[in-house]
Amino acid sequence: MSIINIKSTKRWLVTGCAGFIGSHLVHKLIKSNQKVIGLDNFSTGLKSNIDFIKSEDENNNFDFIEGDVSNIQTCLNATKNIDFILHQAALGSVPRSIKEPLASHNSNVTGTINIFNAAVQNCVKKVVYASSSSVYGDDPNLPKEEELVGKVLSPYAATKKICETYADAFNNAYNIDIIGLRYFNVFGPRQNPNGPYAAVIPLWISNILNGIESYINGDGTTSRDFTYIDNIVDLNLKAALSEQHKNSIFNGACGNKTTLVELYNLILEATQVKSGKSIELPIKFREFRAGDIKHSLARIDWAKNQLNYKVSTEVKKGIQKTVDWYYDDYIESTLPELIPESI
Ligand code: NAD
Repeated sequence: MSIINIKSTKRWLVTGCAGFIGSHLVHKLIKSNQKVIGLDNFSTGLKSNIDFIKSEDENNNFDFIEGDVSNIQTCLNATKNIDFILHQAALGSVPRSIKEPLASHNSNVTGTINIFNAAVQNCVKKVVYASSSSVYGDDPNLPKEEELVGKVLSPYAATKKICETYADAFNNAYNIDIIGLRYFNVFGPRQNPNGPYAAVIPLWISNILNGIESYINGDGTTSRDFTYIDNIVDLNLKAALSEQHKNSIFNGACGNKTTLVELYNLILEATQVKSGKSIELPIKFREFRAGDIKHSLARIDWAKNQLNYKVSTEVKKGIQKTVDWYYDDYIESTLPELIPESI
């Protein structure tokens, strides 16, 4: 579990609460006896995640609003009497944004400026919002440091970069505290393995559990800084509660690289440990996908030094926890597509 303890009861708004990261944030807040309002339009989030949160909410601290962040009135209503906002609502996935750039813009940019604007109107103490490692774009330097970004390579990355620009503008113009977190390939329980835009870890776990082959685009040496969800929950809460930081960007990552071949083998091993059975399911290789960057790795010193961020769960342990969850709790009725659309 994440490390931070919250001392007094505050009122939090978590947007995107029916999604993967949002549902973990709400869960942690509810377990810490915080008052939480969740907002989601179920565009990619699941009702089962709301039901899960309600089932764990012994003190009735959680209220849910079904609505869209691209509607300013919804945002104004949701931000009344709120101390902190953890803004996660967005349409993820680079391929989705290439197919539907306006939809991505509407949820990610209009939605975020609405949240910032509503936060100003309702005197919210601080907004922490989800940015993305995609903002680094074509910058070739590794590891990625917060100050140095390249040209963005997709509409999705553009939406996140625009949000960062708006965060600066709102901080300057209205003196509101806004912190952006650039997440690097977050994974864990409740990440959706279904649909054409599923992330690679839940997709491969689901494939292995269903006995079907998975594919790697390229020779398998492509690497990412895969980050277990507990680390990201911890980082969000530390960013929100930090007195010192009013306007800043932090990488949200592990600071370690894992290649896709290593990742597949970790998932296979974890599944064997959990099931007690040996599994023969080799990965298949195919063409490298145009537009994918080869390596992504974060430097996390800024968050460590400034927010006392610590990586509590490394990749191998996180993969085991994730596989255990899918094995025990995730029952699938429809087989997912074989092709990973995004890593
Ligand atoms: P997710 O799809 O599981 O969750 C996003 C949630 O936002 C969903 O429940 C969806 O229904 C909701 N949503 C989308 N548009 C909305 C709108 N217009 N109004 C209200 N709700 C809306 O995705 P996630 O992985 O939990 O991602 C959360 C945030 O983190 C997103 O902003 C995403 O861009 C960012 N991010 C995630 C990763 C990752 O690896 N998961 C990496 C970088 C950035």
